[in-house]
Amino acid sequence: MKKTRYGIIAAALMLTLAACSSGSGSDSDSADGGDTRPLIATTVSPITSIAASIAGDCARIEGIVPEGTNSHTFEPSPQVAELLSNADLVLVNGLKLEDPTIDMAQTNKKDSTQIVEIGTLVLPEADYIYDFSFPKEEGKPNPHLWTDPGYAIKYAGVIRDQLTALDPDCASDYAANFATFEQQATELGEAVAADQQSVPAGNLKLLTYHDAYAYFAKDFGWTVIGALQPNDFADPSPSEVARLIDQVKAENVTTIFGSEVFPSAVLEEVGRATGARYEDSLRDDDLPGAPGDAEHSWLGLMKYNYSTMVSGLGGTPTQLDAITVAPISSNSAVYPQ
Ligand SMILES: [Zn+2]
Repeated sequence: MKKTRYGIIAAALMLTLAACSSGSGSDSDSADGGDTRPLIATTVSPITSIAASIAGDCARIEGIVPEGTNSHTFEPSPQVAELLSNADLVLVNGLKLEDPTIDMAQTNKKDSTQIVEIGTLVLPEADYIYDFSFPKEEGKPNPHLWTDPGYAIKYAGVIRDQLTALDPDCASDYAANFATFEQQATELGEAVAADQQSVPAGNLKLLTYHDAYAYFAKDFGWTVIGALQPNDFADPSPSEVARLIDQVKAENVTTIFGSEVFPSAVLEEVGRATGARYEDSLRDDDLPGAPGDAEHSWLGLMKYNYSTMVSGLGGTPTQLDAITVAPISSNSAVYPQ
């Protein structure tokens, strides 16, 4: 009788110990029920990275849109529903970028979980940009605010406020991480502004395949000549290609930019037809390096893209190349590949 009772007590004690020891475990498995930190679901990798920088060790961040996929046509797989049902906060860009994911979140989320559309919060409707790939009649504004350092800081501020509301005990961590992010993003913006002075006069013209730099261009005084990708994200029609070829010739565009995410035979054709150099290595949502590397981050991505653009347009990206991409906090977010 006594032995049995001791046996039961010992077993109960072991269960308690097991529960405690898994609480601080760093095996970053989202299904780990022992991890009591808030679970934050995010969508595209630049936003996942900003959220991870602000969260540090205080919250778990798990992205939804795999890197290198077209986020504009992305439909979440059924297994994303499980993440959304466990998440304590869902952070999306909004501005109509991730409607299928928002629908899935609304169906599956916990009652207390908020879905926060960061871009929709920070961008007044009067400042929406509609353009080549995002025509007004389709009702979807250009959603790419995060490529502009000033808006990236606003994104980080929204994320800090949301995490602080969810988890006030970590308020000072979130505030400190935000301050570091703000400093890094400011430094990046200053480096772009300095390095673009080295681009020959009249050359700050951007023709890209994917239309991801509209807000950046407006703030930094660049001209977006066009984007090749039509609003249905298929290839442009022959008459649209012919129009762009004429425009590239008329405006003496020296370099046109493609990206790894959207390899484009059409852009190559425009390059051949106009004599403009085709630089195909921009990375849209695909962070450099591998998850866990310092450069696998919003800052690493933007440093790379703007350095590539400045040198592609005939300038010298001295300040950009001198930026040290240092991790802000432990970088343990989950980035689906
Ligand atoms: Zn995009």
